[in-house]
Amino acid sequence: MTRLPDLRLAAALATAKGTYRATQLLGRSGGTALPGLAAERVDPRLIGKLAARLPEGVIVVAGTNGKTTTARMLADILTTAGKTVLNNGAGSNLSRGIAASFARRSSLLGRPDADIAVIETDEGAFPAVVAAVRPHVIVLNNLFRDQLDRYGELNSVASRWKGALAAIAPGTTLVFDADDPTLCALAEAAPPGITRIPFGLGPHAYTLPELTHAADAVLCTKCGTPLAYHALSVGHLGDWYCPTGDNARPPPAFSATNIRLLGMEGVAFSVSRGDVPFCDVTTSVPGLYNVYNALGASAAAVTLGVAPATVTAALRTFVAPFGRIERVALRGRRLTLALIKNPTGANEVLRLVTTAPPAPLLLCINDLIADGRDVSWLWDTDFEMLADYAAPISVSGIRALDMAIRLKYAGVAESRITVVPDIADALVAVAEDAAAGSDAYVLPTYTAMLAVREALHTFGALRDVWATAERR
Ligand SMILES: [Zn+2]
Repeated sequence: MTRLPDLRLAAALATAKGTYRATQLLGRSGGTALPGLAAERVDPRLIGKLAARLPEGVIVVAGTNGKTTTARMLADILTTAGKTVLNNGAGSNLSRGIAASFARRSSLLGRPDADIAVIETDEGAFPAVVAAVRPHVIVLNNLFRDQLDRYGELNSVASRWKGALAAIAPGTTLVFDADDPTLCALAEAAPPGITRIPFGLGPHAYTLPELTHAADAVLCTKCGTPLAYHALSVGHLGDWYCPTGDNARPPPAFSATNIRLLGMEGVAFSVSRGDVPFCDVTTSVPGLYNVYNALGASAAAVTLGVAPATVTAALRTFVAPFGRIERVALRGRRLTLALIKNPTGANEVLRLVTTAPPAPLLLCINDLIADGRDVSWLWDTDFEMLADYAAPISVSGIRALDMAIRLKYAGVAESRITVVPDIADALVAVAEDAAAGSDAYVLPTYTAMLAVREALHTFGALRDVWATAERR
């Protein structure tokens, strides 16, 4: 029996495709969610209908930090395993952006040209997206304080996630970072019939001495006592336990062992299942937080039946997505771009920069809606790490002066801070501060990153404002 075409869905897809072409003609390429917005007006159930037609279903990746990298890694691994993967790109992780991605990859009659989808979702959109796409695997990276003006306190996000997880179907696999106490509580509260796959870091040499003031969610979810750590890794993530003895990190099903941080060049580690190492990972995205991302992606892939050698091969050639540690050549210097958007993520980027050889550093701070309008996060970020930084520091963007003041309070001598309000001018200046053939670091917020990329495109250093830079 042939199925009658879904006319409402077809109309929504026609609308999406028409809107997409129109935005292209207007010169607004990637990242726009307009086609999705228009299509969802015609058929609000578009995402769910298309998701149901994917032969191998949908994986949803959510978390405050690293979801774009993790989703892209997982998509790369599944592609290397021979599957056709639908992955929504950076900046389109709200419902309408996801609808746009699905619509672009479907025929007018609603046949998706993919086997499986890896969908990253914004924290706020997570409940609605999960309800719509009914994923068979959910990967939860972490929950940090982020964009308070959009989502309110961490606990309100956690309680909405709890509601979303309460409604997932039996048989769903929940892959989650066991180093995050909040996620452990959520996983524990999820309904019976869910397969829980905790992952976490094994013993390593890069622990933090104490919680930074950006860290949150450090109270025991059972008794309210502040948690303690056998090893603290990133923000509030680590091998945690409650001193009263009523709560502790569950044993990870997958752990990262033999972790080696290779400066700005990347990370290497082994993935162990239980206590048995079974796959080596070397990947070009740096920092301990990227060990978490690669571990989460590996755990999800192996759970789906992907061979360890495929995981190794895919991550070895992984290229960081849009703005997550990208390298671009400008005037004979190598610029490393790293997005900063919240205290924990920014602290990890600062940790990287301050442990790598010193190089001229440019901070670009905007406060448009996509950045979060509230720049108080600058005060929760440990810019104190830059107090003795042995290379020039410059600031740019709409809130350049706020950044300069923050640096001054962090102990950076005023005479060492250069304010260059225009981002294009600041890029040229930071490149020229570096010796020919050497490095400079550029750390922008989201919309400042777009301005950075537009400037680099104008200078001929980047072919496409939206595409990931070539590997260098
Ligand atoms: Zn407790």
